[in-house]
Amino acid sequence: MKLIIASNNAHKVREIKQILAGKFDEIFSLNEVGVFHETIEDGSSFEENALKKAREIAKITGCAAIADDSGLCVNALGGAPGIYSARYAGDCSEHSTDEANNLLLIKNLEGKADRSAYYSCAVALVYPDGREIVAEGYMHGSIIDSPRGTRGFGYDPFFLPEGEKRTAAELSDEEKNAISHRGRALMALLNKI
Ligand code: IMP
Repeated sequence: MKLIIASNNAHKVREIKQILAGKFDEIFSLNEVGVFHETIEDGSSFEENALKKAREIAKITGCAAIADDSGLCVNALGGAPGIYSARYAGDCSEHSTDEANNLLLIKNLEGKADRSAYYSCAVALVYPDGREIVAEGYMHGSIIDSPRGTRGFGYDPFFLPEGEKRTAAELSDEEKNAISHRGRALMALLNKI
């Protein structure tokens, strides 16, 4: 069976292909099958958004489709930025750069003693016959005040994974994938297929 990844993010595409290679005959990104489609992510949870993306791509392509949705949840901020992680500092992508999002995060945490946080990821696999499988993964840790590291993306320079002395932006891809919310969600999905 053919699987379409509802993303063109090179990092995600590589990781999904590696983990699910044994379960599908062929795996393609949206670019690789010439599909240009943007899902409006208006769900109220990571799971709803991932399912919406996968359902739309399964319908358009007639193939199995996989999608993920992820974000950072900070306990002292009531779980924010959560599903709004990509656009925390403003709705348009010009305002919501990683830098602006991180600045706002640190500002909102000023004076707060509880720095605990976690990354959350939901992955959804939707088959052309309508069957759906969803799995979740988490990476727990804490938010530090000064950024460290140049790898990773998003909030990684400020995120210290539990039990680590290095931020997520100081870990190699392999090290991060082994403990990341996305890596864990994909492994959980693999066990459900
Ligand atoms: P998406 O699921 O790829 O759309 O990610 C949503 C947003 O959550 C990203 O734009 C980042 O701000 C944040 N995010 C999700 N996963 C990570 C991660 O592994 N590191 C840093 N930020 C992340």
